[in-house]
Amino acid sequence: MKTIDKIYINGEFVTPKGTEYFDLISPTTNEKLGQVLLGNPEDTRDAIAAAKKAFKTFSKTTKEERIQYLKNMQTSIEKRKQEFIDITIEEYGGTFQFATNSFEYMRQSFISAIELLNTYSFTKTMGQSEVQMTPVGVVGIIIPWNSSNGYICGKLATAITAGCTVVIKPSEMSAQQTQLILECFHEAGLPKGVLNIVNGLGEVVGAEISRNPDITKISFTGSTAVGKMIAKEAVNTMKRITLELGGKSPNIILDDANFSKAIPMAVAAAYMNSGQACIAGTRLLVPESKLEEVKTLIKNVVSKTIVGDPKNETTAVGPMVNKKQYERVQNYIQIGIDEGAEVLIGGLGKPEGLENGNFTKPTVFVNVNNQMRIAREEIFGPVLSIITYKTEEEAIEIANDTTYGLQAYVSSENHERALKVASQLSAGRVQVNKLGHDPMAPFGGFKQSGIGREFGVTGLECYLETRVLIQ
Ligand code: NAP
Ligand code: MG
Repeated sequence: MKTIDKIYINGEFVTPKGTEYFDLISPTTNEKLGQVLLGNPEDTRDAIAAAKKAFKTFSKTTKEERIQYLKNMQTSIEKRKQEFIDITIEEYGGTFQFATNSFEYMRQSFISAIELLNTYSFTKTMGQSEVQMTPVGVVGIIIPWNSSNGYICGKLATAITAGCTVVIKPSEMSAQQTQLILECFHEAGLPKGVLNIVNGLGEVVGAEISRNPDITKISFTGSTAVGKMIAKEAVNTMKRITLELGGKSPNIILDDANFSKAIPMAVAAAYMNSGQACIAGTRLLVPESKLEEVKTLIKNVVSKTIVGDPKNETTAVGPMVNKKQYERVQNYIQIGIDEGAEVLIGGLGKPEGLENGNFTKPTVFVNVNNQMRIAREEIFGPVLSIITYKTEEEAIEIANDTTYGLQAYVSSENHERALKVASQLSAGRVQVNKLGHDPMAPFGGFKQSGIGREFGVTGLECYLETRVLIQ
């Protein structure tokens, strides 16, 4: 049993003034792992005050100084790689494969931030004027549980690149993962107040961050519903916002695709991070004429998908993060059945032998039309809907018929054709014949998948304010 009873303010581990505890429960066994003492609005204000004070000097640091801090942070996490993997598996129930990739993503955040600093010019000439790109101020970072330290590294590395200071509110469910990364960053020796982290509830700590006039910008990853609440609150003090929200990503398999390659990739895209991924490819669009072939291939791949203990290196789908998330997924499977979709494989209930954890059967629905709730709403679990189309135009139309627009996928043996289709999709990122991540390219959503972009020059400029000198 571990008790996390410290938060991080002004370069020190301090005991929060909040008095409420939250239980940390294993997703794999539902046994209690520990507890975390939650911060309150006063703790949040202390953290914001520290960040505001630190901003005065940190905003004036040179590129070389920021690069050194980023290098120190990278080194400090690299030393504890195994612990990051272990705690992600234990506390979050992320699979070994996910936890390993997630660590690489964390590392890459620092590497790409350093590359940006080496190449980006904070002063430009536009027209007759000098344009200065200056750090926006104190950034409030609010993040969910499904890739906690990945989000911390991505957003914090960008803030440091820009010369901003931060107050981070992670999910309280990620407290042990947060504790580990704090120990690393403490060792990295950032100036006091540059990084502050307050564990606590969204409606308490998150709400104070959204409201507080000393927060200049919010970078949020989470649900579209909470993103809208934050945006409404933020406008009162005209905070800048970057919102990375939900998705219902379409995966178009064109009729000339290599199905034996595209279908396993589609299953991997749907079930990545045990389906708890905003970018998961949850709508599989296949040519009507190929449906029977697709059904056979899918059944074959999914029946071999290993669900179980996230520690095992071969496990592809682990438990849902908590009971609530398990029930949410079950509820959606029931909704799909009630709407008249057909369960091809999977379905309701827990897989045999995995009754103690929050495990759900990887599920595939056929006979789905794009108006059903299972095709429109984000489920955030391993549930894939197969939708058929007759023509390429119809495939594009169905793909774009969604309120979301975070990611899309296209498979075709004719690369030119795939690119042509990809270029017509309303999505912030399209995976063409592959599953990848480019840390130097902007990431974010069209439509209700968000506002703004993260990563690359575009992402950096979301942490900068533009000052023009006319002389
Ligand atoms: P969530 O409920 O939106 O929570 C996200 C964060 O916001 C948590 O830290 C939460 O705190 C906090 N929060 C809740 N209410 C708040 C309020 N009134 N004011 C300020 N902050 C508040 O999302 P989740 O259920 O944890 O995560 C899953 C969702 O995240 C999915 O919908 C998924 O699509 C989305 N997501 C998006 C991306 C992306 O990059 N686009 C990536 C991953 C996940 P508590 O934990 O205390 O509730
Ligand atoms: Mg929540």
